[in-house]
Amino acid sequence: MEVGFYGHVRQYLNIKDEIDAKIREVLMSGKYVQGPMLAAFEKEAAAYFGSRHAIGVGNGTDALWLSLMALGVGPGDEVITHANTFFATVEAIWTAGAAAVLVDCDPRTRNIDPARIEAAVTPRTKAILPVHLYGQCADMPAIMAIARKHGLLVIEDDAQGIDGRGDTFRQGELSDAVCTSFIIQKNLGCFGDGGMVFTNRDDVDATVRKLRNHGSAQRDHHSYGFNSRLDDLQAGVLSAKIRHISEWTDQRIAIARLYDAGLAECSHIERPTALPGYRHVYHLYVIETRDAAKRDDLLGFLTAHGVDAKTHYSIAIHRQEGFPWGKPCRIEGSLANAEKNAASCVSLPMFPELRPEEIQYTIEKVCEWDAAQG
Ligand SMILES: *Cc1c(COP(=O)(O)O)cnc(C)c1O
Repeated sequence: MEVGFYGHVRQYLNIKDEIDAKIREVLMSGKYVQGPMLAAFEKEAAAYFGSRHAIGVGNGTDALWLSLMALGVGPGDEVITHANTFFATVEAIWTAGAAAVLVDCDPRTRNIDPARIEAAVTPRTKAILPVHLYGQCADMPAIMAIARKHGLLVIEDDAQGIDGRGDTFRQGELSDAVCTSFIIQKNLGCFGDGGMVFTNRDDVDATVRKLRNHGSAQRDHHSYGFNSRLDDLQAGVLSAKIRHISEWTDQRIAIARLYDAGLAECSHIERPTALPGYRHVYHLYVIETRDAAKRDDLLGFLTAHGVDAKTHYSIAIHRQEGFPWGKPCRIEGSLANAEKNAASCVSLPMFPELRPEEIQYTIEKVCEWDAAQG
């Protein structure tokens, strides 16, 4: 059996009529850039996610650096994040001109460890950039307590966590801005690149809107800016899909529970930690081999048996070749947990359209490998 890592075409076919109708609507409107479909989707997204403002931008990476810039983060400033994230998190800090400060992650959730943040704060620290890695919210109350104590901004990297929430908080409820990505493999994905900034701050909304459009809020009037817009065709696709996101998240959670149960007896792997009361949206279902030296063996076993498993991410940012390429960067303390994560992670297929027999087969293969380890 072949089990794919993504179900993009299955998802399209399931709601083809809704998506096709939106695309046709945009095509017939004659308005493709900053048109009515983008405005409509921004309203829908803001309402759905309970944010005052939602601004569509070119991609998730731009959402991050446009937010940082709009909040006044730039050269001479330090932004604290963690080393086991997708590369774009750090890239965005550098694009904004700031220095990236890398701290270690929590050994269970693999999200930023709030206990490590405070030691990394200096007079130059301007912001904290937690990532809701794999789809589980970072510990926002703890992060906000540190931010308030030191007068820091907080920008959430929500590229993997859309539709999730914490036990006592929603994404964006406490921070200055939340940034997400709509690239197809994310939980809410369009048919190309896309991203969005959510914020409750009117000043951030106004500034990001200007920055994404050549510094222009009014025809012929420009200040410093860029070109990073979510085009209306993608907004139309997302408008059709956002109606289904909650149901898709529920399906991901149901699959995670099947994996949890099916892998419960495995003694050579660790299953992902789901914090009580949190809505973990399982952008990825990442297991770790207890022995990092056996990871590649498990990965090879699964792919040899048709299960398209992957790694997220097998090279921590500070271990990339040539790091940090002359960019401003500081590593604060040991990054041992991030390195263990990189060395032992295996992501199993996880998408709402996975079929029961595919889930079962994946579980069987992991168990088979586990049993062979003695
Ligand atoms: C995908 C991703 C991004 C970047 O999104 P793009 O739309 O590809 O630019 C940023 N941060 C994290 C954690 C991601 O997973």
